[in-house]
Amino acid sequence: MSIKFDKDSISRFRDLIADANRIAITCHLGPDGDAIGSSLAMALLLRGMGKSVRVLTPDEMPRSLKILPEAKTVMAWSSYGEHVEHSLLEADLILCLDYNAVYRTSRLEPFIRKSAAPKVLIDHHKDPEDFAEVAFSYPMMSATCELCALLIEECGWTPLITTDIATCLLAGIITDTGGFHYNSSSPDLFSTVGKLLQHKVDKDRLMRCLIDTKSADSMRLEAFALSQTMEIDADAHAALITLTREQLNAYNYKKGDTEGLVNKPLAIPGVVYSVYLREENDYIKVSMRSIGDFPVDLLCRTYYSGGGHLNAAGGEFRGTMEEAVAIYHSFLQENKKLITDSALRYAQR
Ligand code: 5GP
Ligand code: MN
Repeated sequence: MSIKFDKDSISRFRDLIADANRIAITCHLGPDGDAIGSSLAMALLLRGMGKSVRVLTPDEMPRSLKILPEAKTVMAWSSYGEHVEHSLLEADLILCLDYNAVYRTSRLEPFIRKSAAPKVLIDHHKDPEDFAEVAFSYPMMSATCELCALLIEECGWTPLITTDIATCLLAGIITDTGGFHYNSSSPDLFSTVGKLLQHKVDKDRLMRCLIDTKSADSMRLEAFALSQTMEIDADAHAALITLTREQLNAYNYKKGDTEGLVNKPLAIPGVVYSVYLREENDYIKVSMRSIGDFPVDLLCRTYYSGGGHLNAAGGEFRGTMEEAVAIYHSFLQENKKLITDSALRYAQR
């Protein structure tokens, strides 16, 4: 997607970077490839300018992302609590990447709010909270990494892009589009990808590591979920997958092991709405996907204090798995027409 940056925002962003020495980069809870890719890319770029930069995350990244350049320098609050808090309070600039509201940073939130440092938001989620001195909020972007690539170019920093930086940016684009499977029809996205590839990125390796790599346990867990818990309501064009703590434990579940699982039922002709409920320690993690115009972000925002994008969103449910499943069923009952109409419109496209 091509965008027009606000000249004043670009110039304020450049000034903030020029004036800052200690820069903290933050992202959302449960960091994904776009959150980590954009954070590492900006960190590498700014370190290249001589800045002291820390990448601070609320919790650990999934194993698959540890192949990214400098991933080992990331400090998760869950492991480095006080260090992370101190870095936020001591920073003289905070970059907020791939999130639209400070609550998405979970345990980092109070320190981001308390810090006197100016904040710069760079993100592609709708409805940004008004907390940053400078905000680059472009929901039409496929990924925050795509936005970062355009921003770097606009700021005149293209000569500073290294293979590692381009690798991190491409990683976020690949993961947020499911390996260019969805939300990636814009020709401008591919022209950005083309420019990144000029920096000698090993795209095939990234695709293999980020999309096509699975542990035996997670492959078996996915097979179990699809064969034993997936229920399809053909009338409502919907599918549900559930995994309880016990079931997850039986397959040695680790963070990220079911990444992409929620997309699988959308392969079934006619299914346009997919829900995945995973039992965490004190809540049920809700993931939703749709194809067409059925707005799962609205649903997650309204019922699960969550959010996301039109076709990919998530949230949390405070209650039991049985209650979450019952709510799913009653929602389908009440909204069958809404989903059916959306499926029809999609079929006619
Ligand atoms: P996933 O289903 O892969 O966890 O998340 C899909 C999309 O929904 C991502 O863009 C993510 O940022 C967003 N998302 C997931 N969980 C939450 C949540 O709890 N709150 C909000 N606001 N967004 C979420
Ligand atoms: Mn993203």
